[in-house]
Amino acid sequence: MKKHDLAPAQLTDIARTVLKKRYLLKNEHGDVIETPETMFWRVAETIAAVDARYGASSEQVEERAERFYHLMTQGYFEPNSPTLMNAGRPLGQLSACFVLPIDDNLTSIYETLKHQALIHQSGGGTGFSFSRLRPRNDVVRSTMGVASGPVSFMDVYNHSTEAIKQGGTRRGANMGILRCDHPDILEFITCKLDTTKITNFNISVAVTDAFMRAVDRDEEYDLINPRTGQVHIASRDGLKHPLTGDVLVPPGQPMRLRARMVFDLIVQCAHATGEPGLFFIDRANEYNPVPHLGAYEATNPCGEQPLLAYDVCNLGSINLGKFVTADKTIDWDYLREVVHESTRFLDNVIDANHYPLEQITHLSQRIRRIGLGVMGWADMLVRLGIPYNSHDAIELARKVMHFIDEESKVASEQLARERGPFPEWEYSIWGPDATCARRSDGSRIRPQRLLRNCNVTTVAPTGTISIIAGCSSGIEPLFAIAFWRYQADSRMLDINQDFVAQAKREGWYSPELMERIADTGHIHHPDVPAEVQRVWVTAHDIAPEWHVRMQAAFQEYTDSAISKTINFPHEATPDQVREAYELAFRLGCKGITVYRDGSRENQVLSTGSTG
Ligand code: UDP
Repeated sequence: MKKHDLAPAQLTDIARTVLKKRYLLKNEHGDVIETPETMFWRVAETIAAVDARYGASSEQVEERAERFYHLMTQGYFEPNSPTLMNAGRPLGQLSACFVLPIDDNLTSIYETLKHQALIHQSGGGTGFSFSRLRPRNDVVRSTMGVASGPVSFMDVYNHSTEAIKQGGTRRGANMGILRCDHPDILEFITCKLDTTKITNFNISVAVTDAFMRAVDRDEEYDLINPRTGQVHIASRDGLKHPLTGDVLVPPGQPMRLRARMVFDLIVQCAHATGEPGLFFIDRANEYNPVPHLGAYEATNPCGEQPLLAYDVCNLGSINLGKFVTADKTIDWDYLREVVHESTRFLDNVIDANHYPLEQITHLSQRIRRIGLGVMGWADMLVRLGIPYNSHDAIELARKVMHFIDEESKVASEQLARERGPFPEWEYSIWGPDATCARRSDGSRIRPQRLLRNCNVTTVAPTGTISIIAGCSSGIEPLFAIAFWRYQADSRMLDINQDFVAQAKREGWYSPELMERIADTGHIHHPDVPAEVQRVWVTAHDIAPEWHVRMQAAFQEYTDSAISKTINFPHEATPDQVREAYELAFRLGCKGITVYRDGSRENQVLSTGSTG
């Protein structure tokens, strides 16, 4: 295909605006010198070219590029933003997710700070565990001073992020994680109560199964100093409750806390600000495909990828709404085809990638982790006439994700036959019986499968690529049916086009009704038929429990984790947040993030006339 005969991309006006502002190539004067079509062709060509390394002819490479181009321009599949921005360009860094290690010494802390900057500059997000750092006020032998502790270094990382804009497009995103048994855990849990602090981090507490059991049984547990591996002894100030000031551990005493008190504090803070979230670290590690290379200590910024130190993942998402046919069924055959093509795309991205660090290049080649996910799930449901908050939706979630997970593994097996399995395969959880990593009780974690990629599936937030594909994001419910978009001093009505089409088809459309829906932020008006009100539910109509159940349904058939926000109405109580956290643990989620409407002042999205 020549550049001048590129088929036009199917893009909404908003998608074109986003691409122009942040993705299309600009010259040194800031003028855009690419069209969306030439951008998609640049990506398709660069990623397809990898096939030549594995023996494909130039005609085959061209055909592959055309297929990739079709998937992206027609909104069936989009790779993560760094691939769209950087493929075929000098930086060439194509992945969204990284985790870097921080060891308990200044060299490591500042080496990793530098690496964070390099990754942000290339458009990637970084996650860190601060759990190895010695606690605040602990001894520092080299200077005879005292340590400043994980939270103060998180602040340093936060300030550095503030100073660097990612490739001039977006500010860096980080995940900060601390284990529940770190002596500074209470300070960490409360560190974002001031919503002007550490704003470039999402934070999650890494909770162990033992901790969750201790919460359940109302038991105490030890806080361990990572420098010594021993129970930490409280310094001369003792340990005080960060909100009440009550002395929890007197000076000089071993630190033990009631698990329930710590859990209550997490819940109270999450109710107040949405943070911290939880990272169920033992659950994540149970499914670590390559435990012989290390354990998971942290995730990427939005939580969908638990990763090892210097680990990386490139993501891509399939737009499910596109697979609903006119007679309201799912086109499974075409979905299969797109899953196979997308898996191949993501495997090629690993080879086309230019990573900012040698350690990352090495590990990515050894384990070949990819993250194939979905978006447009809410669109799929409304097109099929199934309410998000229903057992039918949960069942369909299982069925769809099971299908995608299985088909992507079949595709990865095909790639392994053509190109070889990932080099660490033999000792991974997918390896042969005699050598593979197992659970502590000796049982296999996964069946033996000769795969090209150690991990295949995930669910990303798809914040920007869902706008590009013109679909609902990730597995989230619709945020609103209609809302007012304020842009450059003008007020524009943004309405779900499927909703408009249905209203016109069924004869209850009127411009006034659409404006009323945007004004009130809901569709519960007499002119909207009851069945439509039942199916077209939005995030705020859906009880938190359904959000958690939906996340768990997708998790059942996903290798990595799921990025999802469990939405609560403004009037929700801390107990309801607690129930969601406990339910997520019971249902096998790998983490959870909540948000209570209006709990942060600068909420980005909002419905109703205040929006
Ligand atoms: N991410 C980031 N900065 C951002 C948004 C996202 O570094 O501003 C990273 C982060 O690791 C996140 C991942 O990209 O988990 C995927 O996010 P999303 O799906 O929203 O990205 P998109 O590809 O849609 O831009």
